[in-house]
Amino acid sequence: KSYYFILDVIFIASVAVMTYVRLNKLPPQQFFLPERRKFLIINEIFFTCASLMFLIYGSIITDIAMKRLERKRAYLQKQMDYIAKHDPLTGLMNRRRTHQVFSDVLNMKIKDNQEFAISIFDIDNFKKINDTYGHDAGDFILKTFTARVWKEFPEPIRISRWGGEEFLIIFPQIDENTIYTLEEARKRIVAEPIIYNNKKIPVTATFGFSSSRKFQTPDLVLADADKMLLTGKQNGKNRIVVSPDF
Ligand code: GH3
Ligand code: MG
Ligand code: MG
Repeated sequence: KSYYFILDVIFIASVAVMTYVRLNKLPPQQFFLPERRKFLIINEIFFTCASLMFLIYGSIITDIAMKRLERKRAYLQKQMDYIAKHDPLTGLMNRRRTHQVFSDVLNMKIKDNQEFAISIFDIDNFKKINDTYGHDAGDFILKTFTARVWKEFPEPIRISRWGGEEFLIIFPQIDENTIYTLEEARKRIVAEPIIYNNKKIPVTATFGFSSSRKFQTPDLVLADADKMLLTGKQNGKNRIVVSPDF
């Protein structure tokens, strides 16, 4: 924009100088009838005014176009940021964004001694659901199930799509009620079957749960929670398995 402004100033100055020079270079008085001389002067002034108006008009048009482009750019930037960080199916944050949240909770642990917890859950027998009701039903179930989870855990708790049908619930801080809260929420989430095309499809999930009390980094906490998830899957699914190191 400053570049554009400098061009404007140069152009206005050039027009002013040109007009001044031309007015001063009019042939001597005696060659003209007075009316002719007057006409020439008016002509010069008109030329100057017309140029300036043209310039101002151009500036306004350019300014409007530039503002419009800037708005469009900002909108696209926002959209791109959103797409880069979210899963299109569920609207949850994706794996890339989750790593940023991992560093946030780790920083809070280091700075404020604040412990965090991670639960990883995996939908039970999801392959069978896909095979029985179709892939679209599977997609609908992922959306509906995660929406239920999301509703149960508002900010600052974060939910993310970690993989295909594996999700994380990240608790930036924990207290004595955290395990109880998760279990109560889980019961509510699986209480009602999901209805797809008038079919009632019961959906459950298995949760592994661990915290940073015994583990230093989110990756280690997640690895421990993942082990608990496996234990849960081997012991009948549809449950939360809390790590002994929680
Ligand atoms: P388990 O109870 O042990 O978890 O069994 P499972 O059948 O849920 O586990 P498995 O890992 O064998 O199956 C996961 C399936 O999830 C396989 C894959 O096709 C499906 N899946 C992954 N992502 C999507 C998705 O975005 N949409 C749909 N419809 N299916 C998906
Ligand atoms: Mg599964
Ligand atoms: Mg799985």
